[in-house]
Amino acid sequence: MKALPSRAQVVIIGGGIVGVSVAYHLAELGWTDVVVLEQGQLSCGTTWHAAGLVGQLRSTESMTRLIQYSADLYARLEAETGFGTGWKQCGSVSVARTPERMTQLRRTAAQARGYGVTAEIITAAEARELWPVMRVDDVVGGVWLPGDGKANPSDLTQALARGAQRRGVQVVERVRVTGVTVEDRVVRSVRTSEGEIEAEYVVNCAGQWARQIGRMAGVTVPLHSAEHFYVVTEPIEGVRPDLPVLRDPDGYAYFKEEVGGLVVGGFEPDAKPWGMDGIPHPFEFQLLEEDWDQFSIIMENAIQRVPALETTGVRTFYNGPESFTPDNMFLLGEAPEVRGFFVAAGFNSAGIASAGGAGRALAEWIVNGAPTADLWPADPRRFARWADNDTWLRDRVTETLGLHYAMSWPNRELETARPLRRSPVHHLLAAAGACFGSKMGWERVNYFGEAAPYSFGRPEWQPRVNAEVGACRTEAALFDQTSFAKFTLKGPDAAAALRWLCTAEVDVEVGRVVYTGLLNDRGGYESDLTVTRVAHDEYLIVTGSAQATRDFDVISKGLGEHRAVLVDVTSAYAVFSVMGPKSQEILQSVSKADFLAFPFGTSRLVDLGHATVRATRVTYVGELGWELYVPAEFAVTVYETLLATGLTQAGYYAIEAMRIEKGYRAWGRELGPEVTPAAAGLRFTCRKTGGYRGEERAMDDPGRHVVSIVLDDPEAHLWGGESLLHDGEPVGYVTSAAYSPTLGTTVALGFVHDATLEKAQVDVAGEMYSAQISRKAPYDPTSSRVKA
Ligand SMILES: Cc1cc2nc3c(=O)[nH]c(=O)nc-3n(C[C@H](O)[C@H](O)[C@H](O)COP(=O)(O)OP(=O)(O)OC[C@H]3O[C@@H](n4cnc5c(N)ncnc54)[C@H](O)[C@@H]3O)c2cc1C
Repeated sequence: MKALPSRAQVVIIGGGIVGVSVAYHLAELGWTDVVVLEQGQLSCGTTWHAAGLVGQLRSTESMTRLIQYSADLYARLEAETGFGTGWKQCGSVSVARTPERMTQLRRTAAQARGYGVTAEIITAAEARELWPVMRVDDVVGGVWLPGDGKANPSDLTQALARGAQRRGVQVVERVRVTGVTVEDRVVRSVRTSEGEIEAEYVVNCAGQWARQIGRMAGVTVPLHSAEHFYVVTEPIEGVRPDLPVLRDPDGYAYFKEEVGGLVVGGFEPDAKPWGMDGIPHPFEFQLLEEDWDQFSIIMENAIQRVPALETTGVRTFYNGPESFTPDNMFLLGEAPEVRGFFVAAGFNSAGIASAGGAGRALAEWIVNGAPTADLWPADPRRFARWADNDTWLRDRVTETLGLHYAMSWPNRELETARPLRRSPVHHLLAAAGACFGSKMGWERVNYFGEAAPYSFGRPEWQPRVNAEVGACRTEAALFDQTSFAKFTLKGPDAAAALRWLCTAEVDVEVGRVVYTGLLNDRGGYESDLTVTRVAHDEYLIVTGSAQATRDFDVISKGLGEHRAVLVDVTSAYAVFSVMGPKSQEILQSVSKADFLAFPFGTSRLVDLGHATVRATRVTYVGELGWELYVPAEFAVTVYETLLATGLTQAGYYAIEAMRIEKGYRAWGRELGPEVTPAAAGLRFTCRKTGGYRGEERAMDDPGRHVVSIVLDDPEAHLWGGESLLHDGEPVGYVTSAAYSPTLGTTVALGFVHDATLEKAQVDVAGEMYSAQISRKAPYDPTSSRVKA
């Protein structure tokens, strides 16, 4: 065994496919002072027993591109390293058993074409031509993806390791990491069974062990193992080596050729968690016991699809544990708790497909100090400490494994391990008939009314949401927005620190509220939020529920040497919004404060019934209105006071429809790290003098522009993600959409490459709908209605 170095620039923990891919890409970028530590042998954890499917279709553009890159890399790796990888671009066929599934396939195919992935809708007969051993009399149709492929995971791992080693990376097997030293929130070293290695960067690529390693460093890595299965059959007549991969998601099953037989695996809807008492050691090239009961739902459906399986023997039953995350997306990026400590783990049974792209993305992040693409869907900062709870994780992964082949319904909500975080008035909302969704662990009202079945067309809940929007646009509505993330920044340098971070002027008089962007060095949005100066040396910062960890991280890292302390006060306050043309008179009826002399963009403490709350005049729905910040223990009292005025209660679907009508951008949809204020049409938030982070690049035009979209056909329904075409060519895509009861048709926001575009076609599951494109909001009620 090689002696360990006493220091390295980067130490990677874990010699699975992900760890060696990070090493390979660091070396490719010129960073070769890198050590990979593996407690057993390369690929001995989960990688060795993966089925090796590489499917490119993902729900977002950045994730699709990441896997497209994996496929490109695997195709050339053998020539580059001299190591066989088993890569075969055999293509893949997915079939639908129901019309709804077929709609889903059509939607994803349309999306894929928008991202430059070849995807062809095929009939059941055409599917059978591509995959002759399957039965198709119960198949509605399918999609053919010729660029998909398969590879041998262990061989890929060896090839990537060899590629990294050639450039100088050290790969050391049989060294176990036992601890991580952190000083002042910065990673310093890794302690191992063979001694300590000082490191500037540590990358946790420990697969299902990554939560354990995270805990060594005080870092939250929310993942949990679940048993995952496939069988390999004896040879079957007609199964040839060039057979595409077949997916039958309605039957929970996939099929891949292997030495004349089939690998038959799948994703059962109720998964079986594993490793509740930790992962035994050693666990090397090891499998778990066969469980035919758990596998039966997959096997029965597989026999329905491939009748020959009924009479074919099974050679091997593989039951290997794999790690799953609470939302079925992997974890990639720097941990917010410790600088220099990165995570690439929790690959939800797509680690082989993702490893190439994920390894490159993480290496670029480390080398450049920032990600080079929008990696938010995989960013560990989408979770927080609360997600590191063993029991919660165990209960949640029973559901996430099955999501692979579950219907990708728009607005699909996860059901397990809920409710978790509840507003103080949750019981009042429930009593009023709320239908809840969940975000960042919070229960939030989607709308008031019975839960309705999911659909791709106009949903059954639409009339309820229309009524809530109508109430808000004509009278007023009450929203519980307690899940907002809230921070205070306090200290003598609070104003100076925020001036550097914010695009808008925040050195304002006490009591002013400012909507501002927070940019990265590339001029892209790290966040957009409101900042309220509550005292000369103190600000209240309010941002989206999902961005709590991310924004806290961005702001605290951006404070530099400034004397100011950032505290997360999310749990201290409930937030109730009263929005609508009559909000003023309604609030006036329960307060002695003067709501008539209360200008837009100001905030002050007011009495409300028996309580004192902070009222802030802003709006995200385009109406006159106030957000009320209520100390948690007063929340029920205040909410009851508001309800007694007869206000209509409303939920987040109504907010979504109204903000799109008004053209308000949302971070994570229209705004993101790659979108500048110029591209977003938000130049007005950048009128400050004196410099701010990202200023030099804020007016860059990255070739795409946020626009409003209004459908000509009032019957068509959009959900977001649809491609925009002009003369048959992709010109952009939809980011957010909702039916607008105010305009009587669907409105949306999206990106287009050409800012002058006025019309486009929207591809909805292969059907084209014409739409008007504009840089102006389709509905602007503020000018006519706001009194102040
Ligand atoms: C049955 C099954 C089928 C699958 N099929 C597919 C598929 O078709 N396509 C696909 O894309 N994915 C598939 N997967 C998923 C894929 O196998 C994983 O996502 C992938 O292998 C994860 O790679 P990794 O490098 O993150 O983890 P691992 O391969 O588990 O690597 C982590 C390594 O870290 C090491 N380690 C842990 N702790 C320490 C420590 N303290 N010190 C040093 N080293 C440590 C471990 O020994 C291990 O080798 C499948 C998984 C299973 C179980």
